Amino acid sequence: MSIESLPEWLLPAWRDLRARGERLPHALLLCGPAGSGKRLFATHFARALLCRTPDARGFACGHCADCTWLAAGNHPDLFTVIPAADEEEAEDADATEGGKKEKARSTQIVIDQVRSLQAALEIGSGGHAGGRRVVILDPAEAMNVAAANALLKSLEEPVGSTVFLLLSHVPRQLLPTIRSRCQVIDFPRPARAVAQAWLEQQGVKDAALLGFASGLPLAARELAQGARGELRRQLAAELGRLDSLDPLKLAADWEARLKSRPALECGFAMPDLLDWLQRWLADGVRVAHGLPPACFEDARADLARLAQGRAERYLEAYRAIQAHRRAAQHPLNARLFLEDIALCLRRTTA
Ligand SMILES: [Zn+2]
Repeated sequence: MSIESLPEWLLPAWRDLRARGERLPHALLLCGPAGSGKRLFATHFARALLCRTPDARGFACGHCADCTWLAAGNHPDLFTVIPAADEEEAEDADATEGGKKEKARSTQIVIDQVRSLQAALEIGSGGHAGGRRVVILDPAEAMNVAAANALLKSLEEPVGSTVFLLLSHVPRQLLPTIRSRCQVIDFPRPARAVAQAWLEQQGVKDAALLGFASGLPLAARELAQGARGELRRQLAAELGRLDSLDPLKLAADWEARLKSRPALECGFAMPDLLDWLQRWLADGVRVAHGLPPACFEDARADLARLAQGRAERYLEAYRAIQAHRRAAQHPLNARLFLEDIALCLRRTTA
């Protein structure tokens, strides 16, 4: 399994870390919003640390014995710890247990996972004595307190030359004691022009997706590759004609769309729809105040026509939808719920 090359905006961090050679800290905390590229970076970095003959820029060679194992996904010295339910093996293990426990399993890295990791690190790496080991914890904030406390021991007294790569979208959720034992590497948003150029290279034609993904190019590409990009475009087209649409028909269309195969496949559900509608309304407020839209750049003209002089109404609708959010997960009657929402939006055009 080969991986895509590292985007240009991640190269300065790469050069900096690779230049440290053997003086690398044993724990790195890679921080940045989801979609900033830190996971791709961690994968490259882990491979480079385990490769016997990295190239001149410090990337894994791709053909030594270690690289062959890495490509096959079974290198004995690479340990990846992710939330229990993200592991396929965990899928059916306790299928009969209560929903609550199942839910906890799905989002957390638990102490048993950290203990098995530690046991594996203690045993040593058959055939690779003295060699480096790499642990990827992704995302580190998924560790519950017990797991984090257990991991502290390893961060304080690392076994051999183990390098820990902790990934985090929200580092402030980590125990301060974990943070303080890691060297922090930040992955900020790339400059707009750099991000847009990369997306074009990737064949992403919908330029508005970058804004919608808060300037995060990998997240924008994911939107473009999945159904969400198309769902966003559809919604923007509808909302742009809000003044001439029947809200009840709109609600019926939304209900059908939420049940459609593309929406189900990409996990697009009621809370997402409300989130996107709020983004539209927030853009309306921005445009009414003479600012460019942040999420629906492609609907700039429609927003200008609809929201001009109506900032208050947009704000009201925004708040009204906010009040609906609590019920969005399981509305008693989805159609009525959506009709309420559509009527809220329609009032902005009055
Ligand atoms: Zn190699």
